[in-house]
Amino acid sequence: MPEARVLPADFDGQVLVPGDAGYDEARAVWNGTVDRRPRYVVRCAGVEDVRRAVRVARELGLTLGIRCGGHSAAGWAVPDDGLMIDLSGMREVMVDPAARTAQVQGGALLGSLDAATQPFGLATTAGIVSHTGIGGLALGGGVGWLARQAGLTCDNMIGFEVVTADGELVQASADENPDLFWGLRGGGGNFGVVTRFHLRLHDVGTQALVAEVDLDPEHALDPLRTWLARAWDAPRQATLYAQVMAGGALTLGFVWVGAPAGSDALLAELDRLGAPLARRVEPRSYLQLQSQSDVPTAHGFRRYAKSHYVRGLPDAGLEAFLAHVDAGVGAASLVSYGGAIADVDPDATAFVHRDAEFEYDAGARWEDPADDARHVESCRRLASGLEPWSTGVYVNALADEGVAGVRRAYGDGAYTRLRQVKAAWDPENVFRLNQNIPPA
Ligand code: FAD
Repeated sequence: MPEARVLPADFDGQVLVPGDAGYDEARAVWNGTVDRRPRYVVRCAGVEDVRRAVRVARELGLTLGIRCGGHSAAGWAVPDDGLMIDLSGMREVMVDPAARTAQVQGGALLGSLDAATQPFGLATTAGIVSHTGIGGLALGGGVGWLARQAGLTCDNMIGFEVVTADGELVQASADENPDLFWGLRGGGGNFGVVTRFHLRLHDVGTQALVAEVDLDPEHALDPLRTWLARAWDAPRQATLYAQVMAGGALTLGFVWVGAPAGSDALLAELDRLGAPLARRVEPRSYLQLQSQSDVPTAHGFRRYAKSHYVRGLPDAGLEAFLAHVDAGVGAASLVSYGGAIADVDPDATAFVHRDAEFEYDAGARWEDPADDARHVESCRRLASGLEPWSTGVYVNALADEGVAGVRRAYGDGAYTRLRQVKAAWDPENVFRLNQNIPPA
C-alpha cells in the first residue's frame, strides 16, 4: 500500500505546490474572475499518472479537478485546496487518414486536432476557438462550424479511454460499457478522466468562407426576421448567425465550410437583406477560420455569459435580442443549429437538444473587478428577455446556475438516466467539480 501523500517521485510528470515556479500559471484559467489555489497540481505524463492521481486524491480526501483547456467559465478545472489533474502534458493527436479517424489524448487543445487532420483535407466538429480543450468541449457535446454537416463532436465519438473513480482504466464504446458511452456524450466530466478520445473524421477539404453585413439597428427587425427564418433549411455547409454589440450595428452573416463557390446563392440572399453599413466576404482556409476568434477570446480577462437554446422566436423575442444595442455593455449572438445535429435521436446521447433552432448567448469581458456586478447583472437581465422562448441550455454554456441549470441542460428524462450512470460509475461523486450529476 503506497503512502497516502502526493510525492513527486510517484509520478512520471510534475507535481507543483504553492510557491513552485509554474504553479500560478498552472492554476490560472480562461476566466480571470477565477482565483483558486489547489494544494497540488499533478501535471500527468500519461495514463498511469492519471490513475495514481485519482487514487491518491481519494486516499487523502482531496477534491479533484480536471484541467484540459481551462475554458470552463466557472473554473471547474481548479479545486481550492484540492488536487488538480492537469492534462496539458497529454496532448498527442494521431490521425489515421485511410480510416478517417483520430486518437486524441485527453489534454489536447482543438488547434492541435485541426492542425493534425487538415493536411489530409479531413476534420471533425470542434469549437470555434483553437485554445479550447477537447476534454470539456467534447464531453459536453461540442458545437462548431462543422456541426450542421457532421454533427456535434460527441456524435463523432467512436470510443473513449477512461480512468474511473476507482483508478481503473476502461473503454467505452457502442459495444463496451454502452451506458458509460451514452453518458460521456453530453454528460461532461462526471464519470471519469478521459485519457483518449477516438473520433470519426470527415472529408471537408481545407476551404471556408465568412460573409457578413452590418445593418442599421434602427431598421433591423425585418432583415433579422428574414435571415433567421432562412437558417434551419440552409445548406449544411452553412451556419447562419446574428450578432449585436452594445452601441453597435446588427451583424448578419454565415460561415461556410467547403468550396466558397457553393455559397453564392446564400450570399445573394444575404445581400438582399438591405443596404449594409459594411459588408465583408472573406475566403479563409479552414485552419484560419478555426483560429479567427483566438485573440478576442484570449485567456485572463474577467468574463460572464448567459445562454439559452431558443426556437420559434417571434418579433417580441427578436426585439429583446436587438435591445442589446442599448445595453451599454457586452454583446449577444444567435447561432443556428439543425442539419446533422437534428438528425440524431435525442435519446442516443446525453446531449438532448436536437431540436434547438439557435443558441443564444449574451456575454461580457472586462478587466476591473469593480465592474463585476454591473456586467453580470447586464448579461442576466438581457438574457432574461429571451427566456420565454428558451427550450433549455447547453451544459458547456452554463456558468453558475446550480442544480436548476444542470436540470435545464438535460431535461427530466436524460437527467434521471445520467444519475443512474453516475451511480454505476462514480457512486461517491469523486468527480463533482463540474456541472454535477448527483448519483441516483
Ligand atoms: P476545462 O476548464 O479544462 O475543463 C472543464 C471541465 O471539463 C473540467 O472541470 C472537467 O469536468 C471536464 N474535463 C475536461 N477535460 C476532461 C477530460 N479529459 N476528462 C474528463 N473530464 C474533463 N463550446 C462549444 O461547444 N463550441 C465552441 O465553439 C466553444 N467555444 C468556446 C470558446 C471559448 C473562448 C470558451 C471559453 C468556451 C467555448 N466553448 C465552446 C465552451 C467549452 O466547450 C467549455 O468551456 C468547455 O468546458 C471547455 O473545455 P476545456 O477542456 O477547455 O475546459
